[in-house]
Amino acid sequence: MVGGGLVGLTSALVLRHHGVAVTVVEKRSTTSPQPKARRFHVRSMEVFRELELAGLVHRAARDLAGHHQMAAGRTLVEAELLPPWQPSGAGGAVVDVSPEEPCLIAQDVLEPVLRDAAVAAGATVRFGTELVSLAQDEDEDEVVAQLLDHGSGERSRLRARQVVAADGARSPLREALGIGRSGRGPVGEPNVSVYFHADLGAVVEGREFNLCQIEHPDAPGALASVDGRRRWVFMGPGDSTDRDWPAVLRTVLGVAAPDLDVRSVLPWRAEMLVADRYSRGRVHLAGDAAHVMPPFAASGANTGIADAHNLGWKLAAVLHGRAAPALLDSYDAERRPAGWFAADQSSRRTQGLRALAAGPDPALAHPFVLAAGGFQYAEGALVHGPQGLDDPEPISAFEPVGRVGTRIPHRWLDRACTRSTIDLAGPGWALLTGTGTPVAEPGPGGLAVHRHDVDFLAAGELLLIRPDHVVAWRGTDAAAATAAFVGLLTGRHAAPEPAGA
Ligand SMILES: Cc1cc2nc3c(=O)[nH]c(=O)nc-3n(C[C@H](O)[C@H](O)[C@H](O)COP(=O)(O)OP(=O)(O)OC[C@H]3O[C@@H](n4cnc5c(N)ncnc54)[C@H](O)[C@@H]3O)c2cc1C
Repeated sequence: MVGGGLVGLTSALVLRHHGVAVTVVEKRSTTSPQPKARRFHVRSMEVFRELELAGLVHRAARDLAGHHQMAAGRTLVEAELLPPWQPSGAGGAVVDVSPEEPCLIAQDVLEPVLRDAAVAAGATVRFGTELVSLAQDEDEDEVVAQLLDHGSGERSRLRARQVVAADGARSPLREALGIGRSGRGPVGEPNVSVYFHADLGAVVEGREFNLCQIEHPDAPGALASVDGRRRWVFMGPGDSTDRDWPAVLRTVLGVAAPDLDVRSVLPWRAEMLVADRYSRGRVHLAGDAAHVMPPFAASGANTGIADAHNLGWKLAAVLHGRAAPALLDSYDAERRPAGWFAADQSSRRTQGLRALAAGPDPALAHPFVLAAGGFQYAEGALVHGPQGLDDPEPISAFEPVGRVGTRIPHRWLDRACTRSTIDLAGPGWALLTGTGTPVAEPGPGGLAVHRHDVDFLAAGELLLIRPDHVVAWRGTDAAAATAAFVGLLTGRHAAPEPAGA
């Protein structure tokens, strides 16, 4: 694993969950000092749930618990909370989309939780260690990495059978492999993010928010809560870091804030770029190395977590000898379109917070499609029906019914609401059917058969669910389920090599 950021650490956790030995090298000596991402969608929390980390993450997130509302005003002091947008289904019922709640937690709080969990799970995690080069020979079944220990100055070699390049937006490994990127490039105007400390607990008490749109003509922008009390990020337009930031921030706040302390000023420009291929040989790009997108849909980190979840079970199946290497081709076939979709949707979401609070823009994908894994894989480690993608998942509404290539819909399986359909698969595969379906147990290849009468399954229907909760096959013939399961692992159903291979 190259990169011990959010995605590298999540990849390590997923691989350990599947019993794979893993080493993470991270050139920095610490986890991210910047708060960066703060909103983790329900789909990411479902991944952490599978890893038995969701409770730990929610506990670490307690500072921002309940700060989900948006606010807007001329200054912070004048800002009012905007009415929360309540997603509702038929008849106005609140939609229960996931067994998990979304989580607001700053990336600099989350990363240490993930690093400690990865170490506890048995990963070798080497901070202060940079990968300086990687040799990959097609005839060899390993790659050889040259590492530099920044503490001791020592150089060493590490052999690995597979490499996940979670080395960030500038990804030296992507560059070294000659993988280009496509997309819109820069989106919108240049911005500056100012991370500062100021005790504003009393100022925001009773109006706790996630993001506050500041409409002051001299200091327009958005103020983000990092811990809801002392740590804040202000994002405003401009390309100059050379301003009197304490004065600008006091305009934003509308109060004197005598203890205001500017910690960093980062210029940035939103970009939409997606790697032209996600894998080359034994190296697989994940996270920002594979895609960068504007922060407007809070999807950058979340898309990276989904990459890690998708790639992890496939690498494990191949490394454990349970699947043909061709299964790994499906990583690009599935995650590259998903990365493009998330990046494209993020680029289109340019409306202000007031418009956002009024409800979803019908011209855009429904917010839950992004937040709850509603993107449908058109090809990959899947067996679509004879007509192919004849029943595509809508994106203007969130209406999951267990179509092939989508995350299984969430339904509670017990009255106490502790066990969900999401929990049926991972790390193993699962076969879901109704209580009346005559199917032998265990199912094909030792598959666990789960019998539940859920509304999205017709009588006699079976769903084959992959370890990443994605529906791989749907039908009524148990023998076809066996063929699909075996075929997917042997690579018979894997996607073709990406263009330019
Ligand atoms: C201001 C800001 C706000 C954001 N807000 C959100 C948000 O609300 N929601 C959201 O989902 N996303 C958000 N993002 C995006 C999110 O932070 C990124 O998508 C996320 O950090 C990507 O994680 P990553 O692990 O792929 O990359 P990174 O976090 O960049 O980690 C890559 C790591 O690789 C290491 N590395 C690089 N090269 C080497 C090498 N040769 N050897 C060893 N290590 C190496 C780097 O040191 C780094 O630690 C935001 C980003 C910014 C900057």
